[in-house]
Amino acid sequence: MRVWGHRYNRDLQRYSLALRMIGHEARTHTICEWTGLPPERIRILCRTYARDHGKQHAVRHRGPSPQNLSFFLRSSRLRSEAAAIAGLCYVLDVIPWRKLPNARRELPNVGRGQRMCLAFEMYRKLVPASKITLEHIVLLVTAIAQGNELRVIHCLGCGGAIIMDRFELARRRCTHCSEQQTRGALVRLRVQSSAIGEASPGGQQPLL
Ligand SMILES: [Zn+2]
Repeated sequence: MRVWGHRYNRDLQRYSLALRMIGHEARTHTICEWTGLPPERIRILCRTYARDHGKQHAVRHRGPSPQNLSFFLRSSRLRSEAAAIAGLCYVLDVIPWRKLPNARRELPNVGRGQRMCLAFEMYRKLVPASKITLEHIVLLVTAIAQGNELRVIHCLGCGGAIIMDRFELARRRCTHCSEQQTRGALVRLRVQSSAIGEASPGGQQPLL
């Protein structure tokens, strides 16, 4: 009886995660990886999900999942969003503190999948206009856990998290601190150039 109850609970959690991921428009193979359910079961669950939500079809994306990590480095906004999500994923124990040699195989499990969905839902509540999908989060957490291509470091200015390409050396400050540093440098330059202008009324023009 106890064994049966344990299996029932485990299956219930798998189905619950699958439905949650279907709601977040994850692809079938991603849901299979994280729940351990076979593709035909996911297809049946998609129909159940659509029926329960009064739709003809659940939104399904075809083709491979996002693979390109440069997506997160494409703009300062995406860098900041990826860093915030990575921070949330560390706090919720979606990303382990130790590196995983084969994160794609070792990372997915039902408990972690539920916490990853929670991180995604919390983030979307805070930033509803975000372009980052659950599939992007799978890509992000897998890359950070593996540690070969992306890494998370602390900003030298504020201590916040920054996402960096592993081979990127220059960036040590978050977007906010970099902008503040640039603004501060511009202000200092203006002050210096106006001081030079005052000292020599012969007419040195401000640099900026
Ligand atoms: Zn900073």
